[in-house]
Amino acid sequence: MISWQNIYGHEQIKADLQLLLQENKLPHALLFSGIDGIGKLLTAKMLAKSLLCCNSQQGNMACCYCNSCKMFDEQNHPDFYYLEPEGKTRKLIKIEQIRQIQAKIALSPYLSDKQVVIINDAQYLNDTAGNSLLKTLEEPIGEVFFILITSNKDMILPTILSRCMKIYFAPLSYLDVAKVLQQKIQIEEDKAKIIARLSGGSILKAMQFIDDDALALRQKALSCLQDNFSIKDIWSFIDELSSFERNKINDIMSHLQMLLRDLLLMKVNKDSDIIYNQDIKDDLLNIQNKYDEVSLLTKLTLVEEILKRLNSNADIKLILQKFILDWQNK
Ligand SMILES: [Zn+2]
Repeated sequence: MISWQNIYGHEQIKADLQLLLQENKLPHALLFSGIDGIGKLLTAKMLAKSLLCCNSQQGNMACCYCNSCKMFDEQNHPDFYYLEPEGKTRKLIKIEQIRQIQAKIALSPYLSDKQVVIINDAQYLNDTAGNSLLKTLEEPIGEVFFILITSNKDMILPTILSRCMKIYFAPLSYLDVAKVLQQKIQIEEDKAKIIARLSGGSILKAMQFIDDDALALRQKALSCLQDNFSIKDIWSFIDELSSFERNKINDIMSHLQMLLRDLLLMKVNKDSDIIYNQDIKDDLLNIQNKYDEVSLLTKLTLVEEILKRLNSNADIKLILQKFILDWQNK
């Protein structure tokens, strides 16, 4: 069962949405934006459940016991529609998907007095699908609410953006992420806090870090900063990195990015409390003197480049070779 209390953080957003619900002032098109894994979809679902609740006159908060609330929790609500991109290699929301929804919402609601459509990863609407959706947003039929969700607002058609009330979800605090981790899995508080700091405020990222044994991968990233590779070492290091799966190499590089940001931050304020890698601060203090700000910034650019290239189909070994050689020379 989902409830407003299940949603961690985002206190102001929750309060604002509840007020709009109570006053019957919720716009018919909303856009939730923010990084993945912070509760946008959960909030959208909770909003949908509240809108559809049969006791909505009593404060609009979803009573959790009416037929509508029960069917919503059983993922079986006839007036709720959920849409996400299809296709494994190339994600896309196609015009056929939008047309199907349009045909459904043209009919009267079955159980509630409203209908709700959630479109997840709305940045993958292609232009024709987007334009078709736009027509519906411009000429709404009946009590239909659209909630679009995206991690990349810039990829959404400006004409669609202009039709939506935009709500930005900030990354969660590391304490909130740690709390969720401890609730979801058996993990000690200290480790939960370390992982939570590394997650950048995303529960999804934190869970991936746990699956991938984040601390071992971070150690690999740290060794790039600690070691001065000899020619022989470089090739064995490249071989070792190449043996990892692509998503793990990606994680190692994300760690390297965070380590470099921490080192830059510590140049300004070594006691800053927004350092990601608080638990290995002593190691970082030892490394810090090896690099000046310019070389840290240059290395950060290299890491940002390789993170982009890892998303392409280019050969892993070639990407890594270029990266390590550039890394050594800068
Ligand atoms: Zn209800």
